[in-house]
Amino acid sequence: MAGYRAEDDYDYLFKVVLIGDSGVGKSNLLSRFTRNEFSLESKYRAITSAYYRGAVGALLVYDVTRHSTFENVERWLRELRDHTDPNIVVMLIGNKSDLRHLVAVSTEDGKSFAERESLFFMETSALEATNVDNAFAEVLTQIYRIVSKKAM
Ligand code: GDP
Repeated sequence: MAGYRAEDDYDYLFKVVLIGDSGVGKSNLLSRFTRNEFSLESKYRAITSAYYRGAVGALLVYDVTRHSTFENVERWLRELRDHTDPNIVVMLIGNKSDLRHLVAVSTEDGKSFAERESLFFMETSALEATNVDNAFAEVLTQIYRIVSKKAM
């Protein structure tokens, strides 16, 4: 997520990355949050190690209707932790919560994985705009909490 770039005109600039398997809804979560838009097309680009550099927050996304995307969360988390500061704020996100009849990963499973790994957790729908603002806001709040503690 690109930050606000008017160099002289901000108090804080935080880098937050969106990761997770292809098709889980990363670009739609971002477009819902930034422009309140949703799209049926997939257009998220590949991730390289430069993508992680300097990140202080991450949204790690899986698709609640595809169990394989949840199984891969562990791998994404390892890769993230290999490339970032240990204090990074990570929010685990089970996206596509609107597809209730197709759910393949229970809320409990998401929640207990998050607890085990000390991640924050939310289920979202980029389609219905459920919890999207909350997820981004919570990550920024937690980052701010850490940054302001360091500054004291
Ligand atoms: P990305 O590859 O992780 O960036 O995923 P995209 O944002 O491109 O989304 C992949 C597909 O899932 C697209 O067809 C989206 O329309 C669809 N999608 C994304 N978020 C949701 C959601 O919350 N609910 C539903 N039903 N579909 C979604």
